[in-house]
Amino acid sequence: MLTSRRTMLAALAASALAGCADLGAPAGGHPSASVAVPRPVVFTPTVSPTPSPSSPATPLVTRAQIVARYGNLSPHYWGFGAPGVLRHALAAGRVIALTFDACGGPGGSGYDQALIDFLRQHDVPATLFLNSRWIDANPAAFRLLAAEPLFEIGNHGTRHLPLSVTGRSAYGIPGTRNAGEVYDEVAGNHAKLTRLLGRPPRFFRSGTAYYDDIAARIVTDMGETPVTFNVNGDGGATFTPAQVSVTVTAAGPGSLVIGHMNHPEGGTAQGIAAAVPILAARGYRFVRLSDD
Ligand SMILES: [Zn+2]
Repeated sequence: MLTSRRTMLAALAASALAGCADLGAPAGGHPSASVAVPRPVVFTPTVSPTPSPSSPATPLVTRAQIVARYGNLSPHYWGFGAPGVLRHALAAGRVIALTFDACGGPGGSGYDQALIDFLRQHDVPATLFLNSRWIDANPAAFRLLAAEPLFEIGNHGTRHLPLSVTGRSAYGIPGTRNAGEVYDEVAGNHAKLTRLLGRPPRFFRSGTAYYDDIAARIVTDMGETPVTFNVNGDGGATFTPAQVSVTVTAAGPGSLVIGHMNHPEGGTAQGIAAAVPILAARGYRFVRLSDD
């Protein structure tokens, strides 16, 4: 049992973040499955995001300042673990941070209503990383999510690009090519979210969650915390419900789980619905990234 589970986990760990890999493929292709989570409920927001004129829509630094500081520096790292990138929940103790990306673009502007409704019905907080294109495609859903204290909204980029200062690729997606393009990728959606939420986002996760070490420093300079993950919860929305459940229930204290909320045809909603009660029974509580 243990051996087979390890084998399965190893296989899952090798899966790509396809849900974040906007390869221009149609959103379909995942095996459809009946959704076992409770029926959606109508949610009535009690708080409306109120844009504040005191919240600047531009980051703390200018593009020119970023280019001057980092334009001539060479990176030494490429992947999920660049220095300064958050891979664990900030809260201490027996906690798990569930995070869900909405990648947007041709491969991922869907909305997993069943997943969000499960979180609502069971009062499970989560951090939602929304890409600029996904927000444009889902304005009504965005307004509801932004008004709910249960959810924290993070920045998932403007064009959903791996964050590189040299054009490195991840999952076949060419990354940003220089420090200025890193700035643009963060700043575009930073401005949109600040305008819509009335405050700037605290957390940023790049498309594919890849960073080089210089790009991660740029995000920090711009006033956001770069985030990756340490549990790949749904393999880029390619996992079956059983694979999601096995992977997520293997999370330990402080885990930062990545999943996707833009592929309702995938196994994420059912897998999360299966995993959450198991983790709760083990004494875990769920936190947003800003919770401490
Ligand atoms: Zn993504």
